[in-house]
Amino acid sequence: MSRLALAVVALAVAVPVTAAEKPNIVVIVGDDMGYADVGFHGCKDIPTPNLDALAKADTRFTSGYVSGPYCSPTRAGLLTGRYQTRFGHEFNGNGPEVGLPLSETTIADRLKTAGYATAWVGKWHLGGADKFHPQKRGFDTAFGFLGGAHPYFPGKGEPILRGTKDANETEYLTDAFGREAVSFVDKNKAKPFFLYLAFNAVHTPMHATDERLKKFADIKDNQRRTYAAMMWAMDEAIGKLLAKLKEEKLDKNTLIVFFSDNGGPTMQGTSVNGSVNTPLRGSKRTTLEGGVRVPFVMSWPGKIPAGRVFAAPVIQLDVLPTALAAAGVEIKADWMLDGVNLIPHLSGPVLKDPHDALFWRFGQQTAARKGDWKLVKYDAVADGGKGTSPARLYNLADDIGEKTDLAAKHPDKVKELQGAWDEWNKGNVAPLWGGGKK
Ligand code: CA
Repeated sequence: MSRLALAVVALAVAVPVTAAEKPNIVVIVGDDMGYADVGFHGCKDIPTPNLDALAKADTRFTSGYVSGPYCSPTRAGLLTGRYQTRFGHEFNGNGPEVGLPLSETTIADRLKTAGYATAWVGKWHLGGADKFHPQKRGFDTAFGFLGGAHPYFPGKGEPILRGTKDANETEYLTDAFGREAVSFVDKNKAKPFFLYLAFNAVHTPMHATDERLKKFADIKDNQRRTYAAMMWAMDEAIGKLLAKLKEEKLDKNTLIVFFSDNGGPTMQGTSVNGSVNTPLRGSKRTTLEGGVRVPFVMSWPGKIPAGRVFAAPVIQLDVLPTALAAAGVEIKADWMLDGVNLIPHLSGPVLKDPHDALFWRFGQQTAARKGDWKLVKYDAVADGGKGTSPARLYNLADDIGEKTDLAAKHPDKVKELQGAWDEWNKGNVAPLWGGGKK
């Protein structure tokens, strides 16, 4: 083993921490956000001051990925730290037997075992049957809805649950989720806690409050104006949570992660929710960058350097091992995690990229990223074409928009990435339920 590799191994070993030192862990997920639609990616018409403050003060990732282009699969990857194709959770699905397979152990299970108070607030989308309920998957408390989308004004849609009972919620949903997040922190401030705050904003249906719509009266397009007002609501709710952490002097000892569960749904040139993915090509539903590359921020004051822009690819699968390492939990090889602990990569000098390569499988669509190279077969329908594209090769270093196919020019690179994908795919299983439906 080289000295470099030894150094990496030494840094990657979890440092034992006492209960008093254990950081709180907050994972915030947005839904169907456009890559372009945050201030820290240069968005001009929708201010996101609280997310920007998080990105500016801490580390933002310019190659932050999710392991799928749809809601449910990426949540399965997040909560397990494993490519969801390892256990058949490849697609969204419906029905009583569809849910995060019970064979899998969640981040909440692991942190609960480590002495954390654990809470889920928001959208679940990992199974509606009793056996898949968040409180059976490691979360002490649960507040939110179990499906994949929900109206934002009270009185419609499936019940908003507190535990397993109808909460009879009366607030605009994004405000309610923010309120519950703050309340959880208040109740658990004396012990280490894990909060999984999964907004359904800015997923359809497009519902915003009149007050917030007025704030964006200058935006002429009705869809974009509503989207802006919904994004503002989410940013406000995040701001309230950050303020609460500061007020309780917990901000320094809290690891916060934020990302969107997939890219903006901009299929065939018509954005479903008003989102924009530029300069990326493609959309939610595709393995092009527009489907899987997302706004992604990580914050842990004092442990992760402030204001850093981290360009090497990371993925939401890294959240679980990073959080567990922060909590002093030893990661076992037989957990078969695909994610890695990012802390040594973020806190010290950059020794090597966290991942040798990243991979995707979503039905016929596939992708592999290795260094700056990406080999991708994508949903050409979403791009105005037909079926699934042939394998195309892009160099993302100077072609982030995946415009120039270099497959014919670099056949060796195609072979190398295809070989790496084939090897990775040997560790996947057939989907447990079928394909591609929203
Ligand atoms: Ca989504």
